[in-house]
Amino acid sequence: MSKYDLIVIGAGAAGLMAAGKAAERGKDVLLLEKNEQVGKKILITGKGRCNLTNDCEVEEMINNFPETGKFLYSALYTFSNWHLRSFFSDLGVETKVERGDRVFPVSDDARDIVKALKKYIEQAGVKLKLNAKVTEVLTEDDEVKGVRIESGSEYRADNVLIAVGGKAYPSTGSSGDGYTIAKELGHKVKAVKPSLVPLETKEQWVTEAQGLNLRNVRATLIVNGEEKEQEFGEMLFTHFGISGPIVLTLSRDAVQYLDQNIELSINLKPALSFEKLDNRLQRDFAKYSRKQFKNSLGDLLPRKLIPVIIELSSIPSDKFVHQITTAEREELIELLTNLKLTITSTRGFREAIVTTGGIDTTEIDPSTMESKLVSGLYFAGEIIDIDGYTGGFNLQAAFSTAYLVGSQI
Ligand SMILES: Cc1cc2nc3c(=O)[nH]c(=O)nc-3n(C[C@H](O)[C@H](O)[C@H](O)COP(=O)(O)OP(=O)(O)OC[C@H]3O[C@@H](n4cnc5c(N)ncnc54)[C@H](O)[C@@H]3O)c2cc1C
Repeated sequence: MSKYDLIVIGAGAAGLMAAGKAAERGKDVLLLEKNEQVGKKILITGKGRCNLTNDCEVEEMINNFPETGKFLYSALYTFSNWHLRSFFSDLGVETKVERGDRVFPVSDDARDIVKALKKYIEQAGVKLKLNAKVTEVLTEDDEVKGVRIESGSEYRADNVLIAVGGKAYPSTGSSGDGYTIAKELGHKVKAVKPSLVPLETKEQWVTEAQGLNLRNVRATLIVNGEEKEQEFGEMLFTHFGISGPIVLTLSRDAVQYLDQNIELSINLKPALSFEKLDNRLQRDFAKYSRKQFKNSLGDLLPRKLIPVIIELSSIPSDKFVHQITTAEREELIELLTNLKLTITSTRGFREAIVTTGGIDTTEIDPSTMESKLVSGLYFAGEIIDIDGYTGGFNLQAAFSTAYLVGSQI
């Protein structure tokens, strides 16, 4: 039976990079993928445009991995966002920088990223086997010997990289197989939870606002009455609660406190001070002074939110605007700037962008990604406990950790 220098399990962002890099250096590499195609998840990243990295400084990138950024220091400096962009440029994919320093292919097409990675592994001479689900990594005396796939076939290798992703969006192939395999090898797996994920709320009124996308609002995450984090930007109301960019970002922290009292406070008018908002309301109320309260908010709020605000305020909906008191107006301002939602849960892995938790980083050498427990065993990408915020950080981490493996084994 032939013996490979490296077997890579999983042909996602991390697996493709590591396999290509090692083969380019003359290593004999076998890449095993359980799907019928490679890079299935990459195709849906960035809403099909693939936000492959972020154009920020490496230090800032590290800060975007709240708990485990330090672990990525070596990987992100060795293969930075700059290296990643020139890597794709060499493969014919030019990139551009958008709002928030997010980097996308100029073509706005994630398929170009997958095509480039396919070209990379083909040119480097990687042997690719599709529809090959790995069920076990074979070891002897804490040394890697190879892998076994579902059909029972075994493949021998001196090194094995587990790059099977986490549990988020299992329809793309990442269904958490790696955790079981790693546990059998003695690795600790930190509790895995969905992250960058929509949030469910107790309040039923969100269903009334379902489909409403709010721009330029500020959301504050409050845990047990204490403000934890704020985000400014876009959010969306859904049939179960809330979603959209700022909610996904805040969910990264919300997930850690689900057993506690979590609220989200939305400021619908963050650009206006109390005084300016009061002036604005007084102007609108002067304009609609002969109308009922329920017919006076059309200039200030999106249509779907008006019945919600009317219902939540203590001002009777049929009260004439000229009869609204200063105290009532002030209460309305409080509602508009501190609209509270109670977070009850997150949506599941099926809707999560990433997995938080995973292989404990203390058991992996950060300069090589080799296991500290089993010689010749490596990890790269989302299977490791290294989730970051949105903005291209998660793909960069997958590529960078994989590069370390491919360039050193
Ligand atoms: C909807 C969505 C949008 C996203 N958008 C972005 C974005 O724009 N920017 C960004 O930075 N990040 C984004 N992410 C996150 C990012 O895609 C992941 O963090 C990244 O793809 C992880 O790469 P990976 O190689 O570790 O794992 P994956 O990409 O999940 O690849 C793992 C591969 O392993 C295979 N596999 C699993 N088990 C086995 C097994 N037993 N045997 C063989 N093969 C196996 C899987 O089929 C899969 O092909 C997004 C995620 C989602 C779900």
